[in-house]
Amino acid sequence: VEILEVGPRDGLQNESVLFTTDQKLELIERSVAAGARRIEATSFVHPRLVPQMADAEGVMAGVPRGNGVSYSGLVVNRRGYDRAVAAGVDEVNCVVVASETFSRRNQGMSVDEALDVVSTVVAESASTPLKVSVTVATAFGCPFEGEVDPAAVQRIVRRVGDLGVDEVALADTIGVGVPTQVRDLALMTTTQAPDADLRFHFHNTRNTGYANAVAALDAGATVLDASLGGIGGCPFAPAATGNIATEDLAYLLARMGVPTGLDLATLVDGVRWLDDALGTPTPGQLARAGLFPA
Ligand code: ZN
Repeated sequence: VEILEVGPRDGLQNESVLFTTDQKLELIERSVAAGARRIEATSFVHPRLVPQMADAEGVMAGVPRGNGVSYSGLVVNRRGYDRAVAAGVDEVNCVVVASETFSRRNQGMSVDEALDVVSTVVAESASTPLKVSVTVATAFGCPFEGEVDPAAVQRIVRRVGDLGVDEVALADTIGVGVPTQVRDLALMTTTQAPDADLRFHFHNTRNTGYANAVAALDAGATVLDASLGGIGGCPFAPAATGNIATEDLAYLLARMGVPTGLDLATLVDGVRWLDDALGTPTPGQLARAGLFPA
């Protein structure tokens, strides 16, 4: 199972402490040292909307190379895609939101306009080695509209599957999902987009994140997003809290005999550094509780 480290983007984007570019690069270097091989390094969105990511080009210019790590940049429009390509990302992660209200608040466009962006990105990247991933946000519930109709998620998944994206991720943006939803959405996605890799993105807002992660593996997901320390949230979703923590997920999977390639002790060192840098303990539990066996 591959753990996609999203701390430098989804994590830091919602922290009140603004990291310098050097601090972001240290977070990335520590993740690489712990064994991370896919990292969402930054997002290419307008700095007025997400000031924490204003140094996207600077981050990409400084990431360690020659180590087999694939760096992803989040994009929500054509301008962001062009910036991401110029900055040298290995992957672009497009976002399509399953609810209209959140789509307009998060990226200032309708769901269909976001699908048009994906179509453009797929066409533009067709002759390049760039990997294209699509995250379907609010797939489990919306902070403004409440329950999200699975048919709305299905429509998006089928469309991006038809476009030929490399990977589809279902995101529980506000941490309301439960394992039965994970199973249903996984089955729907492998049916509607059979050629795409299946990834899930969980927030642990209501403590269902790790149960959801195990359900996702059981349902055939090959990639899970997580952030070191469990930092993060979403600036456009009220009361959203962090992602599931990379170190807690890696511990859980290691004890289940599922290899992730991550070194737990190095992750815990990284969490200690992150706690210091943020000036507050991060939500993950492993760094507090300690490794087992010691
Ligand atoms: Zn998220």
